Amino acid sequence: EPYLTSDYRLMLERNEEIIKGIKAVLKALPNAKAVIGIENNKPEAIKILDEKTSSEDKISVCPLKTKYPQGGERQLIYAITGRKINSKMLPADKGCIVLNTASCYAIYEAVYKNMPLIHKVMTITGEAVHSPCNVDVPLGVSHSYVLEKCGGAKDDVVKFISGGPMMGMAMSSLNVPVVKTSSSILAFSKDDVAALPQSACIHCGRCVKACPQILVPQMIAKAVRSQNMDRFDELGGMECIECGCCTYVCPAKIPLTQMFKLGKAELRSMRSKN
Ligand code: SF4
Ligand code: SF4
Repeated sequence: EPYLTSDYRLMLERNEEIIKGIKAVLKALPNAKAVIGIENNKPEAIKILDEKTSSEDKISVCPLKTKYPQGGERQLIYAITGRKINSKMLPADKGCIVLNTASCYAIYEAVYKNMPLIHKVMTITGEAVHSPCNVDVPLGVSHSYVLEKCGGAKDDVVKFISGGPMMGMAMSSLNVPVVKTSSSILAFSKDDVAALPQSACIHCGRCVKACPQILVPQMIAKAVRSQNMDRFDELGGMECIECGCCTYVCPAKIPLTQMFKLGKAELRSMRSKN
């Protein structure tokens, strides 16, 4: 995700621990090999991890094209192995496990230091943050405490987001605890989404071009609007990975991704009742 640099800093500053975490996983899966996928806009991380794994037979580094959402599970598996995963499958069905940088670090701490997951590195950034930084945070403290310790927000802040700008969630309050899935606090002095009014679809096709899952978002949106969940399913709505690319490029500012999240939840709920 744009803005988030916590995993990048972990790769630069705690790479030996991450490699030990990967080795612990390989010990549990003796027939496996590990590939560390890193986007090619992070040459320093590629160089360091390449050097530090050069003597490892079962670990290699694979530089990847810089393209959001390259870090998505399905995109990563396809980019590295050419294997395709859909919503009805787990990566293990195609012989893969995807672990992110922070998970490898947490595995290192669990195996080598007997330490449960009690802290994580978060990115605190955005133009309305006084001192943007990455910070190691104990789980359970509030987001407001973390922000305050990082210099606080500027007076003109209008929006906070937890997670990245594409897949994250707007926060109505910072008085919520940091949990293991918290990755960031983004603070902005303008709300780009609220500033642009929504209009009708002009059938420009930009959402289709942007979709990494090769879906047709404007048609799926129509199915959600008309509550036609069979059509939603037929059009592959469940394959949406909620990356936000279609919403980002849509000139009509239609909240496509949010509609698909609702559609997926609705279909799951219908299936669980049947
Ligand atoms: S990008 Fe927006 S306006 Fe263009 S086809 Fe898709 S939904 Fe319609
Ligand atoms: S959020 Fe939009 S672009 Fe992303 S996978 Fe879903 S439909 Fe495609």
